[in-house]
Amino acid sequence: MNSNLNQLYERAKELRALLNKANYSYYVLDAPEIEDAVYDQLYRELIEIENIHPSLITDDSPSQRLGGVPSKGFKNVEHNIPLLSLENAFNFNELKAWYGRINKLISSKNKNIKAVDSPELICELKIDGNAISLRYENGILTRAATRGDGKTGEEITTNIKTISTIPLRLLLKNPPSWIEIRGEAFMPNNIFNKLNIERKNTDQPLFANPRNSCAGTLRQLDSKIVASRKLDFFAYSVYLPENWEPIDSNLKKPNSQSESLAFLKTIGFKINTTFETKNNLTGANSYYKYWEIKKNSLAYATDGIVVKIDKFTIQNLLGSTNKAPRWAIAVKYPAEEKATTLRKIIFQVGRSGAVTPVAEFESIELAGTTVNRASLHNAKRLGSLDLHYGDTIVVRKAGEIIPEVIRVIKEFRPVNTQLVKLPQHCPECNSKLIQEPNEAITKCINSECPAKLKGLLRHWVSKGAMNIDGLGEKIINQLVNEGYVKSIADLYKLEINCLLGLERFGEKSANNLLKEINESKNTNWHKQLYGLGIPHIGEANAKSLSKNFNSIEELCSIAKETPENISNIYGFGNEMKDAIIMWFEDSNNKALIKDLKKIGFSLKESLNSNYNSNQSNVFDGKIFVLTGTLDSLTRDEAKELIESAGGKVSSSISKKTDFLLSGEKSGSKLKKAQKLGVKIINENEFKLLL
Ligand code: NAD
Repeated sequence: MNSNLNQLYERAKELRALLNKANYSYYVLDAPEIEDAVYDQLYRELIEIENIHPSLITDDSPSQRLGGVPSKGFKNVEHNIPLLSLENAFNFNELKAWYGRINKLISSKNKNIKAVDSPELICELKIDGNAISLRYENGILTRAATRGDGKTGEEITTNIKTISTIPLRLLLKNPPSWIEIRGEAFMPNNIFNKLNIERKNTDQPLFANPRNSCAGTLRQLDSKIVASRKLDFFAYSVYLPENWEPIDSNLKKPNSQSESLAFLKTIGFKINTTFETKNNLTGANSYYKYWEIKKNSLAYATDGIVVKIDKFTIQNLLGSTNKAPRWAIAVKYPAEEKATTLRKIIFQVGRSGAVTPVAEFESIELAGTTVNRASLHNAKRLGSLDLHYGDTIVVRKAGEIIPEVIRVIKEFRPVNTQLVKLPQHCPECNSKLIQEPNEAITKCINSECPAKLKGLLRHWVSKGAMNIDGLGEKIINQLVNEGYVKSIADLYKLEINCLLGLERFGEKSANNLLKEINESKNTNWHKQLYGLGIPHIGEANAKSLSKNFNSIEELCSIAKETPENISNIYGFGNEMKDAIIMWFEDSNNKALIKDLKKIGFSLKESLNSNYNSNQSNVFDGKIFVLTGTLDSLTRDEAKELIESAGGKVSSSISKKTDFLLSGEKSGSKLKKAQKLGVKIINENEFKLLL
């Protein structure tokens, strides 16, 4: 074996072991060890290796079998018609590739059907539950079974009979000797949440998701427990004897998937009515896009859509592999978690001196964006992750949420690798780092540390403060490293020659930057206050402070004489009050105020400020959370409007939230707001309120 093949052999072995273990936990124990998206990603990696090198396929490869093994507590039953899985696509291109493949296959099998006669498609939601097969004999439910390995399932008839949406007798005048129905049993979200709360209160392990909790429920030996969990069922396929025809006037023997759904509904089943027939892939894609956004408004979990060829004649022509029908494909919603390889850890020193470990990893696509780094926040988090160099890590990014490293897949840890440890010395100035007692924070306390100055400058020029666009991190680093800038005030004393000496600066760009820096002296009082970087004083708090105190002198004297006036401000507390007092006591900060005034900063409310006291206070004390994309406002603009009307913007929903301002592609926050009964408003309603 050459070394490359050897490496692939080892990797395939590693993947097989992990996936088989994950399958056992998932299908037998109903307690997954890894996230579904991570499972799918690793499974795909294995398939890719096996496709390129079929010699690496082994009998125990998860690619060689479907689902799990039927459990011992139930009688095993052979499926009369195999109960298969679905092929997966993870994006539109993969859907297109599937469509291309089947069109080719259709025309190769039947010359009368041309590829251009695109077969009609039917799109359905992919319900995240458990496939169930139901057998009716002479119209009476006689047997219900799980999918098992596709050929043999577990007989769970008594449990299935507790699901009230599954008819025990079919609404048919002339039921045939047998009918087989396929569909998805699922646990509605509200029942799942309630069940997990009960389990938490009784110290039982929580179910990972509604699908696993449905599977666990269906395998209960006591059907009273099953009945209490109120499972539900959507039927999606029906198999009928060839020589049977219904005599009911309202029934037609189905010839397509869409007719099957109508048939199922008429004979007494609940079907999922969101399905749509489409003439082409563009239609299927718009169905997908619609439900990708709306999925969280449903009462049950769905992890994608299923695109099927509608007509049975074409389905039959295409047939199935031993794992999945060729005429259907699941298109899964974008992953919010993925596995990737840790490249390195950077230890960033912020403006307060706090050291933040930042993980840099191989780029991955998550929830629609490419990510390659994530903050690990602090030493405690780094320690709890037990991170080693070269580890395979799982990164999560849900919607607008900042990416985070959620765990390590230890099974993939390279041999002889080293634990990631916090440095003992500041990576920037080499002074000894201090671990704050009872705090997760490690700090550089050298007041001269250039990293702190760089952090402070980055903060000063940021969007919420001076908003000096042309002054990015690289330029700041150069200005500090070259010794041109030793304080914020030095930015305003910069001469063109200093900039011309830096990388990538020409006369025009240098002049533009100097102009931008100079103009920043006119920013509003609250932005100046925010820019000072007082600990705990973010944008919203700086605005509140600026409304209560008209100048830096006033704030300073309040901090000295009547600091309770600070802690009494709505949303403030002792921690902020103390941070402000301490900030004013620092001689460096005193000097900074003096310097800023000298170079022309007002550090006070100006009469023509956008945030003068005439501003309406319609949102006084109201807490907003933003989700999704707004039509005519950016997030920052909406935030600005809320805050200038007296409201606050919070990043997470709780019972205290007054409004969720929801735009397009709203994520999990919408679901949570609905659950907590938080008022949800759209952009128009928001503007009306304003
Ligand atoms: P699947 O979940 O990708 O989909 C196939 C199933 O979709 C069908 O069997 C059917 O039950 C269901 N389905 C839902 N709605 C449907 C509809 N409208 N029409 C037709 N079918 C519909 O495949 P699978 O084989 O059931 O399970 C494999 C998946 O399970 C993996 O992709 C992974 O996400 C997850 N899994 C996770 C772990 C883990 O450790 N986290 C382990 C094993 C499997």
